[in-house]
Amino acid sequence: MMQVNLIAYTPEPEKVVAAAAKLCYSDSHIGTLLDGLTEEKTVRFLSMLTDLGHASPIEHANFTFGIEGVSRTLLAQITRHRIASFSVQSQRYVRLDDFHYVIPPEIEKIPAAKAAFLASMDEDAKRYLDLAKKLEDAHTAEYVAAGMDEAAARKKAAKQANEDARFVLPNACETKMVMTMNARSLQNFFALRCCNRAQWEIRALAKEMWKLVYPVAPELFRNAGPRCLAGPCPEGRMCCGKAEQVRAEFAAMRGEKKQ
Ligand SMILES: Cc1cc2nc3c(=O)[nH]c(=O)nc-3n(C[C@H](O)[C@H](O)[C@H](O)COP(=O)(O)OP(=O)(O)OC[C@H]3O[C@@H](n4cnc5c(N)ncnc54)[C@H](O)[C@@H]3O)c2cc1C
Repeated sequence: MMQVNLIAYTPEPEKVVAAAAKLCYSDSHIGTLLDGLTEEKTVRFLSMLTDLGHASPIEHANFTFGIEGVSRTLLAQITRHRIASFSVQSQRYVRLDDFHYVIPPEIEKIPAAKAAFLASMDEDAKRYLDLAKKLEDAHTAEYVAAGMDEAAARKKAAKQANEDARFVLPNACETKMVMTMNARSLQNFFALRCCNRAQWEIRALAKEMWKLVYPVAPELFRNAGPRCLAGPCPEGRMCCGKAEQVRAEFAAMRGEKKQ
């Protein structure tokens, strides 16, 4: 099951962003930059940045997430976001003896599809472990023949085997990562990935991340989300036609009452 934690963030992220904005627009000094930055003034600086489209001060607020129970399919998509830092569990160093995978909800719903999917995962897991064992045995024999003692040879061979055996692992395979994005990159991420056009798994993750950062920095993320929150949907023919529903969903996530 997907688990997302906000494991760290810039303390007082909105104040830090406001301080950067204050430096740009006033004759302030570093030593007293944070002085007088009341909640009200902070909000004023943040809305000024939004009005001006001046986004670089927003980059000073960082958010670090721990994410697990997501698929390698998701990993391929999320790592396309270049303005982020990733640390991902290695399939090279960790042998997946206990093979976990993500079942797409549409497959979960259809019994025949689910049975075929589970059979495929079972088969994949068996083939992976079988291949890893065959590689490990062969590499061990090579190292022992070269004069290495059996225990050391097997340890080295096991790592080497993982490297190649992982090529048969499926996209459904679970992975875990630590990811850091700054608030500007997160705003871009939410615009793209909270949208109904985004694939279901990364959309679910994006919404969970939104729910974690919004209480910490509501002014920074008040308007974050799919582009239809701020105006007409820009997706043209690909529009989901559910803008009203999406706006209502995000209003509820912000804790706003229905009009
Ligand atoms: C619905 C959907 C469908 C998609 N389908 C596909 C697909 O079929 N095939 C595919 O390959 N990808 C696909 N993608 C991925 C998409 O093309 C982006 O790679 C991904 O969303 C990352 O977005 P980004 O570049 O804005 O983010 P980041 O890489 O974090 O970049 C943030 C911003 O920085 C700027 N930037 C970063 N790097 C550069 C650069 N080199 N030059 C200029 N500006 C830069 C841009 O303004 C960019 O928006 C899809 C994404 C979505 C949401």
